[in-house]
Amino acid sequence: MNNSTFHIVFTDLDGTLLDHHDYSYDLSMPGIALLRGAGIPLVLVSSKTASEMEALRRKLGLAAPFVCENGGGIAFPSEHGKEPRIEAMGMSAAELEARSDLLKRAAGRRIRLITDMDPNEIAALTGLEPEAARKVRERSHSIPFLTADGSSIDLPEVNRLLGREGLAVTRGGRFYHLGTAGVDKGLAVSRILAHYRPDAGEADIVTTGLGDSENDLPMLKAVDRPVLVRKPDGSFLKTDMDVILTEGRGPAGFTEAIFRLFARGA
Ligand SMILES: [Mg+2]
Repeated sequence: MNNSTFHIVFTDLDGTLLDHHDYSYDLSMPGIALLRGAGIPLVLVSSKTASEMEALRRKLGLAAPFVCENGGGIAFPSEHGKEPRIEAMGMSAAELEARSDLLKRAAGRRIRLITDMDPNEIAALTGLEPEAARKVRERSHSIPFLTADGSSIDLPEVNRLLGREGLAVTRGGRFYHLGTAGVDKGLAVSRILAHYRPDAGEADIVTTGLGDSENDLPMLKAVDRPVLVRKPDGSFLKTDMDVILTEGRGPAGFTEAIFRLFARGA
């Protein structure tokens, strides 16, 4: 019998691998380096677009496929600097945008889609440079949005109404996101698992997932070892799940958890 283990680590970006405020990954680098040294794939899973994520994947020198737009797309990196091949998991952004009236009706208030905001406004909301903010609008499989008055929406109720139309809303660190019902970070985990099954051979696959927000919950539910990192204000996302909690916030919590779970002898 072969008892070896094949690990895969899934991580959210904003507020987890990247600092919520300045998007720095300095504090997550020791954790990333430990995984690289151990040959463990690190799968980036975010609400960001494929083009934003491909740039980061290259900077971090990661080879694993990644999950963009909250599971709306799975990107498989190409060799020789070519663009990644994207597998679509749900409706296109154009199809979602065409249904945005359903969202407004379900939420019962005025909604501002990111595609209606200009890059300067997105830059002010996110702290990104205007050029990077422009990229945020290039959606393929999901549409971030805010309520016009900044109020919170009742997610379970809105999703109950939208589910009939094949739509779903989730919430990240800054924005709500309109996407396809049933398409989330959890479905993406199962797609990535299927990708790695041949590489794992006879070994058992053990999955670890790290996140900080509502849109990470489907991913945390889909992995063997869910980790919630502390938010910038010191709090945690409220959940009744059995999760590993970190002392450190954001990227510091990422590295802390990776060392706790993967350092030699852990
Ligand atoms: Mg996050």
